[in-house]
Amino acid sequence: MKLSIVIPVFNEEKVLPHLKERLFKVLSSLKEDYEIIFVSDGSIDQSATLIKSWMKEDERIILLELSRNFGHQPAIAAGLAETTGDAVVILDADLQDPPEKISEMIAKWKEGYKIVLAQRTMRKENFMRAALFKLFYKMFVMLSDLPVLINSGVFGLMDRVVVSYLLRLGESNRYLPGLRGWLGFETATISYEREERFADKPKQSLRRLFEYGFNAIFSFSYKPIRICFVLGCLISLASFGYGSILIIRRVLNIDVVPGFTTPTVAIFFIGGVLLISNGIIGEYLARIYDEVKRRPLFIVARKTKRQANGQVSTQDIEPSR
Ligand code: UDP
Ligand code: MG
Repeated sequence: MKLSIVIPVFNEEKVLPHLKERLFKVLSSLKEDYEIIFVSDGSIDQSATLIKSWMKEDERIILLELSRNFGHQPAIAAGLAETTGDAVVILDADLQDPPEKISEMIAKWKEGYKIVLAQRTMRKENFMRAALFKLFYKMFVMLSDLPVLINSGVFGLMDRVVVSYLLRLGESNRYLPGLRGWLGFETATISYEREERFADKPKQSLRRLFEYGFNAIFSFSYKPIRICFVLGCLISLASFGYGSILIIRRVLNIDVVPGFTTPTVAIFFIGGVLLISNGIIGEYLARIYDEVKRRPLFIVARKTKRQANGQVSTQDIEPSR
């Protein structure tokens, strides 16, 4: 059994020595063979040099250097594509994800779980970020078409099979926790306390985090556009009622204000029609979006069949790599 560890790194020279110390302590206590894949996401400090210098001590370290800064998610995708292990752990370099939890994840994996998620029990982070995350999860739970495990990010373990499928999902607006959840498979959850980052300030800009949040919502939910449609229907209905009253009053000449009826009825009518047509266009767009994403229709986890020798056997199904 071999474990792959993927670590995205963007200008983390201050943290890396401490990460190395804690990570190697954990890895030396494991029975499994391992490889560590560092992805330097366009770092311009000494991060890459540092990592290269460790290779003399440990031949199981691999360093990928991206041509520029692409961001957390693309860096992880690059690392995943390089993995060869039977299980893959994704870990942030800043020690917010405690490496000590890896052994717990492996234990769960050995019990047969294909995915092990790490759920944050608390978040020692800057107030604004923490509040934004809370708001995001509230919205995401409301909007998502799939069940969502709140307070869990990319930190976790995936079986080879899951990683292979993940790599075959071709969409480029990637929200890894969503894609991983979409794939399914037996999932276990462990909990951990999210520490403050060990040194330096966060490397993900607020803009990137917002983009990430939008990806999460719009890649996994058509509810926003359906809300438009429902709103359109409601407004149309209300305006039909109100318009009828206005027209009746006009015809019967009760309390008529000249020049009021026609524009008011027209505004309501057009507003309703526009929202409904937006919703209809949205439905077509949603379908086009689905087709473009080309997600598989289904994923077969395993197949059970009676063999020629009469034995019934179950096999995991892995996509061809
Ligand atoms: N990171 C990266 N590319 C980026 C930003 C961040 O590879 O453009 C790495 C960073 O070095 C760290 C991890 O991704 O290992 C998480 O970043 P950060 O701690 O800044 O994000 P947060 O903890 O706020 O999600
Ligand atoms: Mg961090």
